[in-house]
Amino acid sequence: MNKQFYQQKQHGQKKPWGYRGNKPPRINPNTPTKQEPAQKQSFMSKAQQFIGFGRPKTGKESIRIIPIGGSGNVTKNMFAYELRYDGLVRDILLVDCGIGFPDADMYGVDLVIPDTRYLADKKQYIRGLVFTHGHDDHIGAIPYIYPKLGNIPLLAPPLAAAFANVKLKEAKLHVRVKAMQFTDTITLGPFKISFIRMTHSVPDTSHLVIETPLGIFYHGSDFKFDFDPLDGKKSEIEKINAVGNRGVLCMLTDCLGSERIGFTPSEQKIRDAIEKELAMCPGKFLFTTQSSNISRIQLAIDIALKNNRKIAFFGRSVNKNVEEAVSLGYMKFPRDMIVRDRDLKKMPSSKMFLIVAGAQGQPESALTRMANDNHMFVTISEGDTVMYSADPIPGNENSMNTVI
Ligand SMILES: [Zn+2]
Repeated sequence: MNKQFYQQKQHGQKKPWGYRGNKPPRINPNTPTKQEPAQKQSFMSKAQQFIGFGRPKTGKESIRIIPIGGSGNVTKNMFAYELRYDGLVRDILLVDCGIGFPDADMYGVDLVIPDTRYLADKKQYIRGLVFTHGHDDHIGAIPYIYPKLGNIPLLAPPLAAAFANVKLKEAKLHVRVKAMQFTDTITLGPFKISFIRMTHSVPDTSHLVIETPLGIFYHGSDFKFDFDPLDGKKSEIEKINAVGNRGVLCMLTDCLGSERIGFTPSEQKIRDAIEKELAMCPGKFLFTTQSSNISRIQLAIDIALKNNRKIAFFGRSVNKNVEEAVSLGYMKFPRDMIVRDRDLKKMPSSKMFLIVAGAQGQPESALTRMANDNHMFVTISEGDTVMYSADPIPGNENSMNTVI
């Protein structure tokens, strides 16, 4: 995985659009004002009236991209695009706000969040926060960090917005993430943002095209090319082409496993693996995957129903995400095939298909408690199968192995 970022400076370029309208330039009171020659001043004020550029041409604009959650690791994704004028911060766009997972030696730590102290004295310049997709390492820290950011707009593709709103609701915050469509273009201060649909292990994953007065930035958060996705919604490669043809000043991209030669198998391949294991299982079948991977959960449900097994969900994250996905129409299954946890004991094990949270070996998860024989309703016994359908997020291998 390579996460790249650059500091780009380009001066005196033709601006694509005048985002400040006819407003006068913002002046930092600490900067001594430079007097322009009288003739030049009058020309500029006329030009400003007609062209709409708010700032005199003497200034130097630059952009800094700051990985608030760090760079080179997989999680805690959070980026600031910082537009500067004469070296002074003017406008900040934030992208993502994700959690990280504690290392084995971080005793008593449940999760790790990006260190946002850098933004503390720049709140007034933050124009908004856009999420790329609904994975926890992109949305999970928002309940902890939003109160530190001030009252800023939060925007995301529909499913990511729904997942993030679950977290905000749980934290008893009243702000909500606004769901954007992939055809939408949004303007936040000088930043104009549009979405490109990408395939990933969660539906509604997006890359962002960020237009700035200095040029176009392509924010390509993690993804995988799946030419046969379970939900049938393919990556919008033609949009990537189009933005490439317009010219991209800087591209950030992040794709786990991109150094491996070959192709990532399509999600469809997982169907065969689940069917094969289920056919060999005489007892309970426990299936675990990332709780945001609702396409894969839907696939597991379809296979379970075909094999006359009833479904039970375990774990808060799975329950909440499935509930949201059903209400948005991303998942469908007959309600009468779902069994409540306490009713399981009335059923033979061979009729059970349990979808369990905790694929990353999280210490308090349902799967960890079941593995430790510490769960109220489920004990794993001989003849049962536990199917892991998740790659470890780098750093989580130890906790996953402990559960196994
Ligand atoms: Zn992701």
